Amino acid sequence: MKRRIKVGIPRALSYYTFYPLWRVFLEKLGVEVVVSKSPNRKILEDGIKETVNDACIPIKVFQGHVMDLIGKVDYIFVPRMVSADGNATFCPKFLGLPDMVRYSGAIIPALIDVRYNLKGLPGGLLRFFRSVALAVGVKNPLIQAYAALAAIIKQKKYQRLLLKGLKPVEAFEVISGSRQAPLPARGRLNQPSSRPGRARVALLGYPYAIYDPFISAGVYEKLNKLGVEVVTYEQIPLRAMRRYAKVLPQNFFWYYSNQVCWAGLYLLDQKNIDGIIHVTAFGCGPDSMVDKTLELEAKAAAVPFLSLTIDEHTGEGGVQTRLEAFVDMLWAKNNKFRAG
Ligand code: SF4
Repeated sequence: MKRRIKVGIPRALSYYTFYPLWRVFLEKLGVEVVVSKSPNRKILEDGIKETVNDACIPIKVFQGHVMDLIGKVDYIFVPRMVSADGNATFCPKFLGLPDMVRYSGAIIPALIDVRYNLKGLPGGLLRFFRSVALAVGVKNPLIQAYAALAAIIKQKKYQRLLLKGLKPVEAFEVISGSRQAPLPARGRLNQPSSRPGRARVALLGYPYAIYDPFISAGVYEKLNKLGVEVVTYEQIPLRAMRRYAKVLPQNFFWYYSNQVCWAGLYLLDQKNIDGIIHVTAFGCGPDSMVDKTLELEAKAAAVPFLSLTIDEHTGEGGVQTRLEAFVDMLWAKNNKFRAG
């Protein structure tokens, strides 16, 4: 029997946004998909060793996941992410990611580094799918079209689950059938908190930082343990967020940066959050502007704001202390929350 081609997907960066799209498409082409291990200290350390010093921690973590896939797969899937909304581009480190990985110094399997670019001529998504299919040797247009349709349907389902408040890992489990959809007890974002007496905090940042427990130092879980209701930008419909593109005098050039900023503006406008925590990676150029914008907007709305800058030396204890102080401050400010 002919051996199936194995393609590795690093569990980092665009994985948190597009994994169902990548996975279903590749599987429907007959490819075996291997995902790198869950984030752990070794992955981070391997990534640090093979990456230039001044790269941000998400890029170092990505390289660590690539290292984890060496020897397990025939190809590693590292698409060159250019534009996902036909407008903004991804940050320069995303644009150069396949080259950074290829020239990292480690001996790695061949890369599938097809451009993901929905800017310009229509049909960008179909061109992307076709190029991926050809990279793994599938030339039949009918198989390509069927795989693309199945992938788009799964991706839409994934996005609906995120809107309902599931974390990416939970949503992956639901769409793969390994978990029933337990919907978090949460009200609509334009209504007061569904948990009376508890603080509702907007946890803003790039999904690959927020949902990677090593990059974010487990901020999401720590807030939950403190009894805080957490809101992230994935819970806001894109159409509602996009309205805030017109509020800023100038939007950012970068896809994720715009979404984080629009989400902050939307949530401040709804007046249903008690504070904002912005998780930002040390050395992230785009975040230097996103962070300041969010801080100024929060200040204008008299909403407490905490900026958490994370790098590979960030200690869990320090993050815990800052979060506790922030939640205590919310309690003291409004005097309406019970202690977690
Ligand atoms: S946006 Fe910032 S954190 Fe994300 S890859 Fe680019 S530099 Fe790194």
